[in-house]
Amino acid sequence: MRFDVVVIGGGLAGMTCAIRLSEQGKRCAVVSSGQSALYFSSGSLDLLAQLPDGTPVEAPLAALPALAIQAPQHPYSLMGAERVATLSDEAARLLHRCGLSLQGGSERNHLRVTPLGTRRATWLSPQAIPVTPLEGELPWQNIAVIGIEGFLDFQPQLVASSLTQALGIKAEVAHMHLPVLDRLRNNPSEFRAVNIARVLDLAENLTLMADEVRRLAGDAEAIFLPACLGLEDDKPLAALQAAVGKPIRVLPTLPPSVLGMRLHQALRSRLQQLGGVFMPGDSVLRADIDAGRVTGLYTRNHTDIPLIAQHVVLASGSFFSNGLVADFDGIREPVLGLDVDSRTDRADWCHSDLFAPQPYLQFGVRTDSQLRAIRHGEPLSNLFAIGAVTGSYDPLQQGCGAGVSLIGALHVAQQIAAQEEQP
Ligand SMILES: Cc1cc2nc3c(=O)[nH]c(=O)nc-3n(C[C@H](O)[C@H](O)[C@H](O)COP(=O)(O)OP(=O)(O)OC[C@H]3O[C@@H](n4cnc5c(N)ncnc54)[C@H](O)[C@@H]3O)c2cc1C
Repeated sequence: MRFDVVVIGGGLAGMTCAIRLSEQGKRCAVVSSGQSALYFSSGSLDLLAQLPDGTPVEAPLAALPALAIQAPQHPYSLMGAERVATLSDEAARLLHRCGLSLQGGSERNHLRVTPLGTRRATWLSPQAIPVTPLEGELPWQNIAVIGIEGFLDFQPQLVASSLTQALGIKAEVAHMHLPVLDRLRNNPSEFRAVNIARVLDLAENLTLMADEVRRLAGDAEAIFLPACLGLEDDKPLAALQAAVGKPIRVLPTLPPSVLGMRLHQALRSRLQQLGGVFMPGDSVLRADIDAGRVTGLYTRNHTDIPLIAQHVVLASGSFFSNGLVADFDGIREPVLGLDVDSRTDRADWCHSDLFAPQPYLQFGVRTDSQLRAIRHGEPLSNLFAIGAVTGSYDPLQQGCGAGVSLIGALHVAQQIAAQEEQP
């Protein structure tokens, strides 16, 4: 099977790269073995929230020169501040073309309210999430935080007490009881955000839910609910808001994340509309490499029929997604045997303080400044690596996971398009 580009991994990085290339008329295939980090994410996308030395970042683009000094191997430093600035805007436009309505911009971070009721700096957030400016407050002084009876993946008490403590606002807690959820509630392993959303998204359940939310909200000015609504889009939330007559925002729950899944679904739909091929549940097992080029990829489902492409993009994620594997002897990239930046001594992989930055989070496939992947010390001419499989950054401490994935994906898409234009 022949394609212009084969992407290994259908997370944020891989899908974005394939979408951009498909928009430019390339025939792309994405092979993706399992659920990506999006299914476990907050739904907000981080660009840069903190420098490696711990300095909080208010304006991500303005902080790039300082980042380049502190972390010269960071993917943003390799790409250069100017390119990161251009591509961060392009990323926001691409997400918009996918039908996603996001708030925020790359000039200045905003704060999103977390499921713990604390606030965390981020770049782009779904409209449904409550956010504040960096120095600002929520627009309401009296909020009802309403959980769902028996649903353990969201704790309204935590949210309410943190909001009261941090912002000095009144936050009342309540739990809705909705008989339509009784069947799910009887089986705790099924009583998860996504399954609840499948029930609550049904138009026939709107009145029942609106009546309960309105009753519990009392005189609150606004309502926070767990994100168990709106699997496909914000329409069920908008309908609920209209029926209740008050602003309603949702907070991420424990995974699976409805907000993250919605992001994935929007990317997947866009790719398929553009004619891209998505192969879920398949896994690239090995590759043929000849004269510094990847010449064929072999997958579990296509066995001995290779996928052949001009260019290959590795976007297989980090340890979480098996893009990197930790063995007794060291860290390895399992599909192509690429060079990995890591630490030799296992004792140096983790920090004993659980809350300290963890060294293993910075491990990843080595690349050059074009993000071509390096094997045996040399870049492979048609293989690029993007997103969480690459290293030299800490998505958690630096709050830059989604930005590195999106901007790296667009950087590589541009290189591939430029190479193909050459005679
Ligand atoms: C639990 C968790 C939550 C996070 N939350 C946030 C957040 O809220 N905001 C934020 O900005 N960042 C977050 N991050 C950081 C995150 O790493 C990036 O934002 C980004 O989503 C990573 O995307 P990716 O495409 O590089 O990798 P992934 O999302 O990990 O996707 C890699 C994909 O490749 C597939 N794959 C792996 N090997 C193969 C193979 N051999 N063949 C085929 N497919 C393969 C995997 O199954 C997976 O689907 C989170 C990370 C984790 C782990």
